Amino acid sequence: MKAVLVTGGSRGIGAAVCRLAARSGYAVAVNFASNEEAARRVVAEIDASGGEAFAVKGDVGTEADVMAMFEAVDKRFGRLDALVNNAGVVDLVARVDEMSAERIERILRINVLGAFLCAREAIKRMSTRHGGRGGVIVNMSSAAARLGGVGLYVDYAASKGAIDTMTIGLSREVAREGIRVNAVRPGMIDTEIHADSGDPDRARKIADTIPVGRPGTAEEIANAVVWLLSDEASYVQGAILDVSGGR
Ligand code: NAP
Repeated sequence: MKAVLVTGGSRGIGAAVCRLAARSGYAVAVNFASNEEAARRVVAEIDASGGEAFAVKGDVGTEADVMAMFEAVDKRFGRLDALVNNAGVVDLVARVDEMSAERIERILRINVLGAFLCAREAIKRMSTRHGGRGGVIVNMSSAAARLGGVGLYVDYAASKGAIDTMTIGLSREVAREGIRVNAVRPGMIDTEIHADSGDPDRARKIADTIPVGRPGTAEEIANAVVWLLSDEASYVQGAILDVSGGR
C-alpha cells in the first residue's frame, strides 16, 4: 500500500485530500499542528471506510518537529510515496506598512520554510539518488501568488509566490530521480482559514468577483491534488495548476 503524508491534514483542504487519498488506496499520515481532535476525526472517518491512517502532530515550521514527523511515518508505514505540502497560514488583514516583523516571519516560516523542510525529508526517502523508489510531491500554492493579496495579506501572497518558484526549481532538480513535483493554486475556497484573516464569510462574500460565481470546495481542490499524485499525471512535472473558478 502506497503511503502519503499530508501536512495540515486535520482540517479544510488537507482533510479533504486525506479522505480522497485514502479512498484512492493510500495509507495516510494526517499531520496537524494543534487541533488533535480534528485530526482524530479524519483518521476515524478513514478507519470507518476501511482505509489506513494515523494522526501525527508537528509544526512544519520547526525543524525538530518535521524530523520527528517523518520518523513517525517511517515507523508506522515503512515507506513514503507521496507528500502533500498543504499546511499554510494567513494572518489578520493588514497593509504591509502595518505588519510586524514577527508576523511576516511566522508566515514565511510555516508557509515557505515548512514546505522546504518537508520536501527535503521526503526527497531523502523517495529519490533514487538516495536508494528510494521515487515518489510525488504536491505543493499548495494560492491564486494570491498571482493576485498579490493587495490590502489583505501581501506577506501570505509572497509566501505562495515562493512556493510556485520552489515547485519549478525542485521539479527540475529531482526529475531524473523518479520524483514528480507539481503545485495546485486554489482560488477562494470555503474553509476555516478565512476566520484567521478576520472574515469567516470572505469566500461567500466575494462570490460575485469569481468568474464562475461561487467559491470552491475543499473537495474540488483534493480532486486536483489526488490526480497529480496519480500515475495519470505521469508526464506532469513542474506544473502549477490553477483551480480557481477562472479567477
Ligand atoms: P485551514 O482550514 O485553516 O486548515 C489549515 C490546516 O493547516 C490545519 O490542518 C492546521 O492544523 C494546519 N496547520 C496550520 N499551521 C500549521 C503548522 N505550523 N504545521 C502543521 N500544520 C499546520 O486552511 P485551508 O483553507 O484548508 O488551507 C490549506 C492550504 O491551502 C494552505 O496552504 C492555504 O494557504 C492554501 N489555500 C487556501 C485557500 C482558501 O481559500 N482556503 C486558497 C488558496 C490556498 P490544525 O488543525 O492543527 O490547526
